[in-house]
Amino acid sequence: MAEDHVNAIKELGDQLQTASNSLQVQEIRNTWLGRKGLITGRLKGVAGLPVDQRRDAGQRWNGVRIEAESMIDEALARLQYQEETRQLEQERLDMSIPGVSPGLGMLHPLTRVRRLVEDVFLRMGFTLRYGPEVESEWYNFEALNIPMNHPARDMQDSFFVDIPGMVLRTHTSPVQIRGMKAAAGRLPVKIIAHGRVYRRDDDPTHTPMFHQMEALVVDRGISLADLKGTLLAMTQDLLGEDVETRFRPSYFPFTEPSMEVDVTCAVCGGSGCRVCKGTGWVEILGSGMVHPVVLRNGGYDPDHVSGFAFGLGIERLAMRIFELDDLRLLYQNDLEYLSRFGRYTGRPIL
Ligand SMILES: [Zn+2]
Repeated sequence: MAEDHVNAIKELGDQLQTASNSLQVQEIRNTWLGRKGLITGRLKGVAGLPVDQRRDAGQRWNGVRIEAESMIDEALARLQYQEETRQLEQERLDMSIPGVSPGLGMLHPLTRVRRLVEDVFLRMGFTLRYGPEVESEWYNFEALNIPMNHPARDMQDSFFVDIPGMVLRTHTSPVQIRGMKAAAGRLPVKIIAHGRVYRRDDDPTHTPMFHQMEALVVDRGISLADLKGTLLAMTQDLLGEDVETRFRPSYFPFTEPSMEVDVTCAVCGGSGCRVCKGTGWVEILGSGMVHPVVLRNGGYDPDHVSGFAFGLGIERLAMRIFELDDLRLLYQNDLEYLSRFGRYTGRPIL
């Protein structure tokens, strides 16, 4: 009985010797000194001993408790020190390990195409102008000579908003009126505008939101020759010196005369293929001489000045450049898909 406490200390010492980490020492502490621990049990048992033995046994086991605590604390400190040292060694900065580089972003394919066209016109002295995407019906339709019975004014073709008289702009052409008004009669007016436009279309080649680029020139004596010259400069700049352009008569309410512009098909070089439906030509934009009503609505007198305007779809151009057959993929924020376009920096070829 008297040797119990000696054996206890010896056994505890053996257990602490074999412990290999601080967690095991915590478990040992629990086994011996926890609420249901061996030494705790012995101390509680003192109360049940005959009166003459209590004092002696109480002192003995209390001494065991104090010694056990100091042995455990010492083992714990030793193992914690070893663990910390080991961890510090592992964490030492290794300059030879290759770093983790953050993925580099890139411009969206549509932004690249837009900037390319923008660049051509800024070099020709045009100024960039912006207009609101929620536009008044007056700027979007009336001012541009679009009559009430025009299909674009139908609920089926345009997005109208809850505010009466307002619409999500169906084209960038309202910026022509805003640009002329801002110029307040000064000459020349030479602006380009681009941005989002909205129509109720949704199929592989049409999305409800797409991007347009618009140009307007107003000055004294502007003629069709100026329009053709500017467009030729643009197409040659964008598509190469060899490209040929073709003008076809067309109709737009805000230009008179109006023309659609084709360029030689890049796939077949003009001999005719599936892409150009055998014609050798691909349509790229709509253009014309600014309608007198539009000039007047912009604050200019059609008897003294004239102008030309044209607009192209950025998406349509991008589809040609990148040979896409489903435009909608460009809007799904799928980084893996978009990264296929790579960091394209060269000139596009239609
Ligand atoms: Zn072709």
